[in-house]
Amino acid sequence: MSSEKKVIFFSIRVKLSLLLFSFALCPLFINNWMSFLAAEKALEKSTLSGLNLSAEYKAGEIYLYLETLKTNTRDFATDGFIKRSLGQTALYNSDTTALNQHLIHNKLPSHSDLISIDIMDTQGVIVASTQTQRIGLALRDLLTFQRGSEGVYVSAVKRSSAGKLTGSIAIPLYKTSDSSAIIGVLVNHYRMDKLQDLFSGKLIAALGGKTQYRNLSVQEAVYLVDFSGQFLTHSAEFINQRAVINTYPVQQAKIFNLETDGIWDNGLGTAVIGVSSIVEIDDFKYLLIVEKQLDAAFENIQQLKSRSYLLFLITLLAASLVSWLMAYYITLPMQQLMSCIDHVSTGKFESSLRDIKHRDEFGLLASKFNHMTQKIKRMHHQLTEKNRELYHQSILDSLTGLYNHRHLFERGAYCIATAKRHNKTLSCLMIDIDHFKGINDKYGHPFGDFVLSSIAKVFKSQLRKSDILSRYGGEEFAIIMPDTDGENALLAAEQIRHGIKSHLFMQGATQHWLTISIGVAEYNHLDNDLMDIISRADSALYQSKHEGRDRSTLATDTRHIAWHTG
Ligand code: GH3
Ligand code: MG
Ligand code: MG
Repeated sequence: MSSEKKVIFFSIRVKLSLLLFSFALCPLFINNWMSFLAAEKALEKSTLSGLNLSAEYKAGEIYLYLETLKTNTRDFATDGFIKRSLGQTALYNSDTTALNQHLIHNKLPSHSDLISIDIMDTQGVIVASTQTQRIGLALRDLLTFQRGSEGVYVSAVKRSSAGKLTGSIAIPLYKTSDSSAIIGVLVNHYRMDKLQDLFSGKLIAALGGKTQYRNLSVQEAVYLVDFSGQFLTHSAEFINQRAVINTYPVQQAKIFNLETDGIWDNGLGTAVIGVSSIVEIDDFKYLLIVEKQLDAAFENIQQLKSRSYLLFLITLLAASLVSWLMAYYITLPMQQLMSCIDHVSTGKFESSLRDIKHRDEFGLLASKFNHMTQKIKRMHHQLTEKNRELYHQSILDSLTGLYNHRHLFERGAYCIATAKRHNKTLSCLMIDIDHFKGINDKYGHPFGDFVLSSIAKVFKSQLRKSDILSRYGGEEFAIIMPDTDGENALLAAEQIRHGIKSHLFMQGATQHWLTISIGVAEYNHLDNDLMDIISRADSALYQSKHEGRDRSTLATDTRHIAWHTG
């Protein structure tokens, strides 16, 4: 068989293995996901602690720088000439030229970050300046500087008319004799870019205060702001244009005076991870914020995340594919097989598993099943044929093709039951060929057989479809005529008799005329079975024979009505 030669190409075992493999991927994925979450937390922690370190370090640098400036400025402010001159200024001895000359000559040459020095009186008017054109100007910042007279005030960053960023440090000037009486304010204007250099460590190195410094990574930004968010200075190039930042740590500091850390939006449209720490310079508080862009900080974890999503997707696809394959290779063929078995079991052999073309166990099974179905189909067909043949053999007479004696009684029983139930009439005819023995003797048995089969055809041609014609035995025939009373049966008998009488039986050169004798009986309610009627019909037949043959006789209860033609 060609079907037997089919080879298993993709075994169910392999398919199941694939399924298991996809299941195995799931815990792998979950594990990966959990370690990813843990790594993300750890990375957040380490980033924050790194930024904290950075903040501490930068605060240290700022202190150092400001201390240097303050010390130098204070030294300068203790200059007796300045104090004397200012005292005189306050007393309206306004020889500011000499004071100014003194400032210009004594401008701290070693500190190139100082761009100018102003001395204001208590009214906020510049009475001396290293830039002489400023003398006489009233400074807006005066009140602020006076508020800061307790110590040193570092002003916010300003953009000068020349486009340069500047900052200021102010210290109070007291009378030598009375340290509580302020006679003026000394304001150092410094170049902002110098302070900005703090964040890259350049300035500290230049000042010689520290030889070691830490460069910030490009992704980090440090802002030094006051509590309203005003920049003092910062390291980020891109926010130079902005004077104020309005981030979460500034809000926190404003409301709660708190240092913060975590993830927030830095007000510049960027999500950042950062820390803020409060820096106290004398009696003034500032906020130092160190931020790192979230994307940059979590770049690796983002990649890991993407890979995890990808892995998840692949796992999902693999599982779906395997599940589809299982359905395609196992469930569907199983269903087809079961439905096919249902069909076959109800005798529908046409259904087969032709659709299953897999080269696996199911393919093999389907092929064998088809083969088996075909075989059963053939056997079933043969059996049906044989049964039909046997049935016909069991009910028909082989010579004449008429119903046999046994079947006559089977049908007779049914006919009588029907007649009884519906109160219908029924008649029976017994026919015997006259002098048949003589035919055998004269022409031989084969011609006798020929006569028997021919006479059956003549009978058939003269009967109704509902009549039941049988070979009762030898050269005798019986006919059941349902729904027919005796009189009509007798008429039919006569018609048959005439039909035979006028028929020439001819086989080759042999030909013969013959006659028949008929006995007719009608069913009556006393009859129990067909035999009762047949017996009466047989008696009537005997009567026909006795009275000279070639006639029909109707049996009655008391007498036989003879009807014959000569
Ligand atoms: P009767 O007019 O009284 O009926 O005389 P008969 O010769 O017809 O009756 P009988 O009973 O004496 O003979 C019947 C003969 O029918 C005997 C038998 O040889 C013959 N016969 C019975 N069955 C067959 C058969 O199947 N074929 C042939 N050729 N002859 C048969
Ligand atoms: Mg006979
Ligand atoms: Mg006879």
